[in-house]
Amino acid sequence: MKTVYTFGGDAPHDDPRQRDKTVTGGKGANLAEMASIGLPVPPGFTITTEESVGYLNRGEAFSDKLRDDVAEALAHIEKSVGKKFGDKADPLLVSVRSGARVSMPGMMDTVLNLGLNDETVEGLASASGDDRFAWDSYRRFIQMYSDVVLGLDHGAFEEALEIAKEDRGYFTDTEMTADDWRELVGQFKQIVKAEQGKPFPLDVNEQLWGAIAAVFESWDAERAKVYRRLNGIPGDWGTAVNVQAMVFGNMGETSATGVAFTRDPSTGERSYYGEWLVNAQGEDVVAGIRTPQYLTKARREAAGAELPSMEEAMPAAYEELARVFDLLENHYKDMQDIEFTVQEGVLWMLQTRSGKRTAKAALKMAVEMVDEGLIDEKTAILRVDPMALDQLLHPTLDPDAPRDELATGLPASPGAASGKIVLDADTAELWSNREEDVILVRVETSPEDIHGMHAARGILTARGGMTSHAAVVARGMGRPCVSGASAVSINMETRTLRIGSRELKEGDVLTLDGATGQIMAGRVSTIEPELAGDFGVLMEWADKHRRMGVRTNAETPEDCKTARGFGAEGIGLCRTEHMFFDAGRISAVRAMILADDEKGRRTALERLLPEQRSDFAEIFRTMHGLPCTIRLLDPPLHEFMPTRDEEFQELSDSLNVSMDHLKRRAGELHEFNPMLGHRGCRLGITFPEIYEMQARAIFEAACDVTAEGGDPVVPEVMIPLVATRKELQILRKLVIDTADQVFAERGASVEYLVGTMIELPRAALMAGEIAEEARFFSFGTNDLTQTALGVSRDDAGRFLSPYVEKGIYARDPFVSLDVDGVGQLVEIAVERGRATRGDIKLGICGEHGGDPESIAFCEKVGLDYVSASPYRVPIARLAAAQAAL
Ligand code: PEP
Ligand code: MG
Repeated sequence: MKTVYTFGGDAPHDDPRQRDKTVTGGKGANLAEMASIGLPVPPGFTITTEESVGYLNRGEAFSDKLRDDVAEALAHIEKSVGKKFGDKADPLLVSVRSGARVSMPGMMDTVLNLGLNDETVEGLASASGDDRFAWDSYRRFIQMYSDVVLGLDHGAFEEALEIAKEDRGYFTDTEMTADDWRELVGQFKQIVKAEQGKPFPLDVNEQLWGAIAAVFESWDAERAKVYRRLNGIPGDWGTAVNVQAMVFGNMGETSATGVAFTRDPSTGERSYYGEWLVNAQGEDVVAGIRTPQYLTKARREAAGAELPSMEEAMPAAYEELARVFDLLENHYKDMQDIEFTVQEGVLWMLQTRSGKRTAKAALKMAVEMVDEGLIDEKTAILRVDPMALDQLLHPTLDPDAPRDELATGLPASPGAASGKIVLDADTAELWSNREEDVILVRVETSPEDIHGMHAARGILTARGGMTSHAAVVARGMGRPCVSGASAVSINMETRTLRIGSRELKEGDVLTLDGATGQIMAGRVSTIEPELAGDFGVLMEWADKHRRMGVRTNAETPEDCKTARGFGAEGIGLCRTEHMFFDAGRISAVRAMILADDEKGRRTALERLLPEQRSDFAEIFRTMHGLPCTIRLLDPPLHEFMPTRDEEFQELSDSLNVSMDHLKRRAGELHEFNPMLGHRGCRLGITFPEIYEMQARAIFEAACDVTAEGGDPVVPEVMIPLVATRKELQILRKLVIDTADQVFAERGASVEYLVGTMIELPRAALMAGEIAEEARFFSFGTNDLTQTALGVSRDDAGRFLSPYVEKGIYARDPFVSLDVDGVGQLVEIAVERGRATRGDIKLGICGEHGGDPESIAFCEKVGLDYVSASPYRVPIARLAAAQAAL
């Protein structure tokens, strides 16, 4: 099997493995693809992801085959460019970059100008005829290599440069002469020697293999692991390495470098979008050190910027770039994110990939590309990440609310956020764990800040453009972000910041509008999102292509309304116990629990009946005849018990029973393992009067609402935590008897179903006989996960993250269904349930019903519907469509 693939020059590109991202990574596969369609790509080679996995598995050792293959591939570059690696007269220089299957911040990114040493730098100087350029490239190389490969602190290099400029009375890097750089290179080498105890590697092959090893090893860097965990990326993919002939954007005024998108990644608008810098090297644009210039004239004018756009300053290269944009979009049929360099007027493509985009942009592009005939509806559905819709479903700033504007920065990632200012990532995480909303404010962000960015509601940076780290990562995470706000200055010592003329401190509240770049003091009110337009169109397509129904988990009329607005087709789970907590009711609930006998319980239940009846009636009205699954009481009773003395006192007053007696009764209710204790249907078996009251409330409400006219109500009464057929048999009879009584009293009846949750392993295994008593199953995968894994859902937080980090579970099994294990139980229950009752209705109502990967599993095993919390309903609709395609 090939360990290395060459591209560019006269390399063949016909091996399908070379264009397979799992083999050559995203960057490598796309470089080969661009070269194969004739775009100007500097020649190079890609080392496969398989080699990186092998290297790490062998305890960081290269295979012999790799050494030979790299030597051969290097010869391909040498031949294509007509220069030799390490040649003293006219050396070949290369870049080394990582490239996993998906773009992954947090890994070693790039080393440029590799192949320079004290001898080759002279060759570069004479061959290019530019001493200054050669020595500038050399110092950049030492700086970058020391930082990313040798892992030395870059601060020391920056400090040396600052001092060098100060000594000479310079303000900018461009004033540094060839001799100045030469002197600085000497200092840089001394820094390296002092820091790592050995000299900077001058052997070009040692440099190359050092960089390759660093890329491989960066796969296991802490911040890469954090990113993988947050994004559900498996730890065993590994990364490819791309080695490519250098082209130089820093060879004077006819050279440049830039990053661009074929459409606007923020809004989705169909217009070229990007940033570039004259006489600069790749990293300068993203690092936010110099302020990048606009790509197009229109955008520059709209922004009122002075520095010329690329369209104006380099019309020929710009025109070529625009041609490449169109070619790439037509080839990939998607918006592309591109890196390019212009070397002495000639355009070179360094990278292309499908660009990250905001949810809004993803929707707009998907819908417009169908209109343009570029893609079909199905492709459009598959283009939008269901989880990204979340960004659109949440409120934005109320345009009419007063705003105390402090400054504006770049609108780097849309959405609105308010929260307390925090100045570093660790504090962001700490405060957010205390349930506080925080805004992370940094000069600029780096991969080390990822956990803090994730914890924050929004991100504000003082430096960096629309393609800076902060902007790209925030867009990917769906966090609002304002970047490059130059009015912001931060003092880490006093933990204060100044925005314009205002002094603020950590903990003060700030609001960001990521769509406009506005920064405001205090909190600003928000409005609900607009769900028409592109969103509506895509949802319509999704509905057309999905097989499964989408219901919601809701128990208040407001939640039901929200869910219906989002397109819910019924209620999959109404947790009746949530209604027990309302102020007026909790004392009746407590009286019921604490009663000494059935008579006492019945008296308290009589107080609850009218309340429950009106709750259900309101829900039935809101749902207009759509199916409603109502679950009878489930949680262990202690959850309703008073805990504080004042509550006991209140209860004692209202029941006219002594505090002592109440506390003793409460003590008797104590359970060692309440989640496995007296809960679910066990309550119904031991205290049938509770379920009887609830069933009565459901049927009376259903009769009432049906009598009001409109769509007839068909309630689905659900019994929780069943393990045996007998339990269900007893409780089903109780429900049916209650229904018969109500119907006789009313002289009216409604249709209804009785079914059960499958949330215990025994129930899944015995589904065949349980189905004899059940018209429907709803998989309660929260409890099913808890009981199958033997992991307490309430305590898992303490140990599950290390489990996920160590790859024991690929994702948190309470978030994404453990398809391999728990999934088998679901499959068994589906199969055995259907064998008994062919038309049994099957759904899922655990949290997994709103998780796209779990939804794909539900489609695979043929469930009839998924049920998700209201804000997840659109996500579920789209995910269900994707699963069906
Ligand atoms: C479940 O267990 O999956 C479920 C939906 O019920 P609850 O979360 O209320 O226990
Ligand atoms: Mg449950």
